[in-house]
Amino acid sequence: MLLEVHQLTKRFGGLVAVNDVSFSVEEGKVNAIIGPNGAGKSTFFNLISGFYKPTSGQIIFKGQDITRLPANQRAKLGIARTFQTTHLFEQSTVFDNVVIGHRLRTSSNLFDAVFRTKRLKREEAECKEKAMEVLEFVGLTDVADKMVANISQEQKKRAAFALALATEPEIVLLDEPAAGVNPDETEGLEQLIVKMVDHGITVCLIEHKMSMIMKIAHKIMVLNYGEKIAEGTPEEIQNNETVIKAYLGG
Ligand code: ADP
Ligand code: MG
Repeated sequence: MLLEVHQLTKRFGGLVAVNDVSFSVEEGKVNAIIGPNGAGKSTFFNLISGFYKPTSGQIIFKGQDITRLPANQRAKLGIARTFQTTHLFEQSTVFDNVVIGHRLRTSSNLFDAVFRTKRLKREEAECKEKAMEVLEFVGLTDVADKMVANISQEQKKRAAFALALATEPEIVLLDEPAAGVNPDETEGLEQLIVKMVDHGITVCLIEHKMSMIMKIAHKIMVLNYGEKIAEGTPEEIQNNETVIKAYLGG
């Protein structure tokens, strides 16, 4: 297994946001996480990417215990993520966002990220080349020089993917990538996720759009009030009574 999570728990005061969740991420697949709002999905991603420290439990990436590693080191090891609301600099170009985002994620301090130290100067050329490469991959070459404020919501989602891909990750955590985009655009993002998997990137996907999940997920974990209530193939999840009651019922 590429990534294994053992009995992960995160408490915020009296609230248990993630409660004793174990989960294995299969390499080269789309591993989906679904569940109602407040179920703990984003918190789960924050624990894996190192933005939150778990209350208890263990996170193993490629056999290494990363439970206590800071976020930037996890990014360097090959774990990338997108956020539920895109974190982009609206007044910068798409290209600059990818370059800056890459630095912010992998640098250990802000000084390194913002100022051109000797080492960074050397890395800069590589970084720019990489940025063009990932922008082409996500289909944003044409708008590379546009300000983020002037591109569509769907293009912003693609830009967020590009930022994640710039670190050359082995695994990408996508937090509701299709939220706020129309059905046609959702299909485009769906294809992009499949393309990522075809290129050997493992995907962890949080999404409410069930048509997308059922189409591209290889396996699904269902969270409810912080607890894992089911895990299985799309077909198994669709027919699971507990899941239908808690989430799909509607
Ligand atoms: P989901 O992504 O499934 O909608 P979240 O992981 O965002 O759910 O939130 C799970 C629960 O944890 C919610 O009750 C939320 O209010 C709470 N929570 C998330 N982050 C924090 C935080 N930083 N501080 C306090 N409570 C939080
Ligand atoms: Mg969330």
